[in-house]
Amino acid sequence: MGNDLRREFNWIAGRPWLNFVGTRADRFGDDPFERLWDTDRLAEWLHHETGTARDLTVSESDLEHARELREHLRALADAALDEVPPPRAAVTAVNRALEAYAPPRALVKDGKLRRSAPDSVRAALGSLALEALHMLAAEEIAQLQRCAAPDCRGIFLDPTGRRRWCPTGRCGVKLRVRAHRERARASETTD
Ligand SMILES: [Zn+2]
Repeated sequence: MGNDLRREFNWIAGRPWLNFVGTRADRFGDDPFERLWDTDRLAEWLHHETGTARDLTVSESDLEHARELREHLRALADAALDEVPPPRAAVTAVNRALEAYAPPRALVKDGKLRRSAPDSVRAALGSLALEALHMLAAEEIAQLQRCAAPDCRGIFLDPTGRRRWCPTGRCGVKLRVRAHRERARASETTD
């Protein structure tokens, strides 16, 4: 069961850029898992979250670039949560990604107003970088939360300010089960 969940994308962190950061599973566990394992996976993810074409061309270097940006965004989020200055390399990476950002165009499709989607991987990553910057450099940062499970520490948006576990629901359950087992074991040894 655990393996399938590790492979699946999830869309629960509250913002596309946070879901992007979540594409590395069990980040702080013994065995982290790369959900963006090839260029097709990145194309699939970008299509879902940024509206890029399903058959978007994704090169190996795009994939490498995407994973790097993801780690830098994670570092910026951690710095914000830990209230320490942002790592310089991460700031540089965001600025580099923003160079490829192109603002969307308004268009009409089937009589409805729509926004155009990014037309390349770099442009899509630029839009994620912009979205991250908008949140991390604004008051919305106060709504950012980190899962309390030590092997997860997933980052998500929590407007209520009351969640301890990430919205997957897995971490809270897992830790409660573990705590229950430990209590049971402790009572066995005292009997
Ligand atoms: Zn979690």
